Amino acid sequence: MKEKKRIEALKRQLPEEDEVQCPNCNLFFYDPFNLLSLSTLNFCLLCANKKVDKEEIKEKYHVNN
Ligand SMILES: [Zn+2]
Repeated sequence: MKEKKRIEALKRQLPEEDEVQCPNCNLFFYDPFNLLSLSTLNFCLLCANKKVDKEEIKEKYHVNN
């Protein structure tokens, strides 16, 4: 419960448009790592780890090796 209050307080400090909803788990994210993951993979980091295989991540991030 404490954690939830902390997050609510944090949310209020940020503009609404910085929040992105993950289409898979329907949670809202506003930290740069999840936002990057959502804009590139369309999943939050947690869902990306579960759903997107490594080859696809490489492709989307344009990793060459
Ligand atoms: Zn998710």
